[in-house]
Amino acid sequence: HLFSDPAEVGALRRDLLAWYDRSKRDLPWRTLAGSEPDPDRRAYAVWVSEIMLQQTQVATVIDYYNRWMQKWPTLQALAQASLEEVNELWAGLGYYSRGKRLQEAARKVVSELEGRMPRTAEDLQKLLPGVGRYTAGAIASISFGQATGVVDGNVIRVLCRLRCIGADSSSPAVIDHLWDVANAVVDRSRPGDFNQALMELGATVCAPKAPLCGECPVKQHCRAWHRVSTGPASGPEGCCAVGCPLCPPAAEPWDSSLGVTNFPRKAAKKQPRVARTAVCVLERRGCHGALQYLLVQRPSSGLLAGLWEFPSLPLAQDLQEEKQREALADHLQAWMGQPVAAGGLRLIGEVVHIFSHIHQTYVVYSLPLDGDATLDSVSPPSRWVTEEEFHASAVSTAMKKVV
Ligand code: SF4
Repeated sequence: HLFSDPAEVGALRRDLLAWYDRSKRDLPWRTLAGSEPDPDRRAYAVWVSEIMLQQTQVATVIDYYNRWMQKWPTLQALAQASLEEVNELWAGLGYYSRGKRLQEAARKVVSELEGRMPRTAEDLQKLLPGVGRYTAGAIASISFGQATGVVDGNVIRVLCRLRCIGADSSSPAVIDHLWDVANAVVDRSRPGDFNQALMELGATVCAPKAPLCGECPVKQHCRAWHRVSTGPASGPEGCCAVGCPLCPPAAEPWDSSLGVTNFPRKAAKKQPRVARTAVCVLERRGCHGALQYLLVQRPSSGLLAGLWEFPSLPLAQDLQEEKQREALADHLQAWMGQPVAAGGLRLIGEVVHIFSHIHQTYVVYSLPLDGDATLDSVSPPSRWVTEEEFHASAVSTAMKKVV
């Protein structure tokens, strides 16, 4: 499952890079990385874009990236930002700890590394919190020209198809092998472009469900495509080894109706955890008659760390509505230090939000308070906001759905 013929590797690099030069998408971080003479600024731009692109579509990221770079054009500027500002800008991108760790790492570069980014993938991964093997490889190859490979979701798909790797693509044996393949094939003189080309191919041509093999610049080097067009080579997938840990398992052989999408294979996904949370939108009329909502801040670690939300209470499953209401009233009363009658809570409805690993249902209540209502409580931090201020705050997409 490796590329054993140096001539084939050379041809693959040539074909892929020629296609990339012709067809690459114009993306703001590419423009900056291609024109910026300062290697630290190049690395910063690539780093920000790569962290934003994890689990998020390119089309969504562009706008966030542009606003981020306008606000914090350098590592030094980011190091001086507050977590509140970072969360505000990140709101809607999801996986909030990514923004937080990016900022922590920027502070570390400024305070401990004299503002100079580590120059190799190994050092980037070792020294910067939140920078994993993939991000380190991307920054080092694109910004510093280190000939090191990258393996992300797109690369996994492309390499599994190119090499007919059909074992569970999240297994350590397959992942280790893919890193070996990626490091072996990366172009020595244009490693950053080569890695971006491989990812771009996965994003635009070698798509998960309907790959455009007819238009693919590397189909001549693709074993899955050969398997479909000319039938199997020696062994089940062109691999001679019996019991090979990289071939499809004997119990799930090649399915001809799937064609090249036989690869990659994934183990069955774990079902998300089901959770219910009661949410109370406390409302009052502010000094100019404008409606205001009360927000409280989440703890600084864990899910949605440091973000603002309506006062919330996790609920046991299968609790009757009356019991939910009472539990929420008790929770509010304990926290606000004033009586809250369960009957005063108005049930508005339910909102479902899917986090990566949680299927969350918010049961939404509202409670109108007097215009001059204040709160003695200092923990957790709280504040009154208008609807406009709410949308500009560091709130999660789930809370926006609640509104
Ligand atoms: Fe992917 Fe098809 Fe190209 Fe192979 S030929 S790399 S399966 S698009």
